[in-house]
Amino acid sequence: MSAKGSFRPDTVVTAYVALGSNLGDSKAIVLAAIKELGERPGLCLAAQSPLFTSKPHEATGGDYVNAVVALECSLNPVELLDLTQEIEQSHGRERSFVNAPRTLDLDLILFGDAQIQSPRLVLPHPRWAERAFVLKPLSTIAPHLVSEEMLRAVSDQPIALLV
Ligand code: ADP
Ligand code: MG
Repeated sequence: MSAKGSFRPDTVVTAYVALGSNLGDSKAIVLAAIKELGERPGLCLAAQSPLFTSKPHEATGGDYVNAVVALECSLNPVELLDLTQEIEQSHGRERSFVNAPRTLDLDLILFGDAQIQSPRLVLPHPRWAERAFVLKPLSTIAPHLVSEEMLRAVSDQPIALLV
């Protein structure tokens, strides 16, 4: 067993990560973060959604740029969280207040069929199915995970393809 705990998967697992930004050059930041994720040891970019734009949901600030990626991942979930938080930091992420505007937010949505409830990490992400900015991009790369009914339930949240 690894020194970092018992979560290391025996095989490669598909993980879904949602990206969002509404501070700075959000489009460039999201695209850079996608590239950075795919270049990290232990991660391989399997699919990437188009970029979307959404209104802040239960939050303040300007419109968001959003995307979701699928990663073939041989890290354990906490290692993936460490890495995503490191990438957030490298783009100047500050946690000034809850739901504050952010240069980059990376949320782990699903990690194979892992179910985790720890102070640092909850999987699946507890609010993924309530958010159009997760469901809509996710539906473009993993339609088997997002039903029409799920999309209908968030259809009041404005989101559009970024052109
Ligand atoms: P939010 O994304 O909810 O707006 P933050 O990005 O500031 O807020 O995350 C707050 C904390 O949520 C992080 O410090 C992280 O440890 C924790 N967390 C729990 N589960 C997850 C998850 N599935 N993905 C990302 N962060 C998570
Ligand atoms: Mg987050």
